[in-house]
Amino acid sequence: MLHNPQSFHPLEPTRAQLTELGHDVWARAMAFTENLPASPAVPAEEPPPALIRAMLTAPAETPGDITPLLDQLDEAVKHAYEPGSPGLLAYVPGGGLSVSAVADFYARITNRFASMARVAPALVALEVGVLRWFASLCGLPQGSGGVFTSGGSMANFSAIVAARHTRLGESFFDGTLYISAQTHHSVTKAARLAGFPAASLRIVPHRSDLTMDEDALRHMIAGDRAQGKRPFLIVGSAGTTNTGAIDPLPRLAEIAAEEDLWFHVDAAYGGFFRLTERGQERLAGIERADTITLDPHKTLFQPFGIGALLARDPGLLAASHEVDGAYLRDMAHKQTYGGEHLPDFAHMGPELTRDVRGMRIWLPLHLHGVAAFRSTLDEKLDLAAYVHERLAAAPRIEVPWKPRLSTVAFRLKAASSSADDIRAANQATQELLTRINASGRILLSSTEIDGRFTIRICIVMHRTHADRIAEALDIIAAALADSV
Ligand SMILES: *Cc1c(COP(=O)(O)O)cnc(C)c1O
Repeated sequence: MLHNPQSFHPLEPTRAQLTELGHDVWARAMAFTENLPASPAVPAEEPPPALIRAMLTAPAETPGDITPLLDQLDEAVKHAYEPGSPGLLAYVPGGGLSVSAVADFYARITNRFASMARVAPALVALEVGVLRWFASLCGLPQGSGGVFTSGGSMANFSAIVAARHTRLGESFFDGTLYISAQTHHSVTKAARLAGFPAASLRIVPHRSDLTMDEDALRHMIAGDRAQGKRPFLIVGSAGTTNTGAIDPLPRLAEIAAEEDLWFHVDAAYGGFFRLTERGQERLAGIERADTITLDPHKTLFQPFGIGALLARDPGLLAASHEVDGAYLRDMAHKQTYGGEHLPDFAHMGPELTRDVRGMRIWLPLHLHGVAAFRSTLDEKLDLAAYVHERLAAAPRIEVPWKPRLSTVAFRLKAASSSADDIRAANQATQELLTRINASGRILLSSTEIDGRFTIRICIVMHRTHADRIAEALDIIAAALADSV
């Protein structure tokens, strides 16, 4: 028997209902955005237990009321780190451009399937256009391509799969890949997911400036070959997460060429600084990569949920990911529109169905213009250089690395290099960080570098300007004064 649709609570609200709902959400979104500068970077308190219990509650059979539901969401959102706060200087924060959120809403209400060219050719062209622009930023030649992913981790994963498939074929247990201790952990995870035993991952020593030592790399490759291993991949970092260090990309590219290895550059943090003149210079050599990871939800200020993998030869991405699904056949094999070849993204990575991710980048890029992004990134480089200069002048702390990008790492000096003094300095630096973050106005994070507890300031948010950085320096100075 067919159900009478009238007897159901409709899943399709009326235009009036949806408009009212939209107004309510919109008003909350405006209040949220306006309050960001005043919002604490970290919530002062843990969420009340009742809120956690409410969020865990199973849905009822009967309809609920929108206002209390949205109130509940507001509460949950409030009890969280605030990545949109100008004071969030921890990790590699994501800004969350408001216009990207608008584009996301549009993308989701129109809900197109752009994973196969035939289904939504113009939207595939939109994504291709953004990816081509990314590729040209990185200096990759015409004909390069790529695919949007959910983030940098997935991009690194597909890069390793492509390198493995292309260079090693089906049996790859004797393959070895080369990273440094400063490489992002997602590369290690990606290697594991791609099927490599832990011993395949070779950790190349780094120099005192935290960049990969290419002489050591050459030695390790030669040693591995002598052992009957098959070196196949070098992963260079274009801006490490710890300190923003940039590996010697031109020399790594040279070694990759000489040794016939795949060259992947993880530019999840640093890549978009290519928009600036300083970034162009400092990231030279990236144009020689086979694949590049970019993370628009970091240095292109996107809301979380978007990364990108670029490939010099996108055909190799397809060759390493594509498998046949008979039910897809009606959508396939029409890829030329307007005289342009459009890819089937579904074959270039692990995902089939996904949102039209490119829209949230396309709209702000075209609406704000590229210069707005360039000057914002230039501002971050300036702010980091200023923080470095100021902290380097403070008596009891050391700032061992001049920032290459927008991260400054510092710690309290140790009285000597004895293990006891290092331990004491590590402990004191940890306490310093706790005092700094107690303000709630800024959040810094910590890392460990060569056995030293190190605080890092990472300036990436588009809303972080000189005023908040001045405040951050005052907070650090006060916390230092307290630690005497
Ligand atoms: C953040 C980051 C990643 C991982 O990207 P996600 O988007 O968090 O998955 C990889 N590499 C570097 C250098 C990063 O900074």
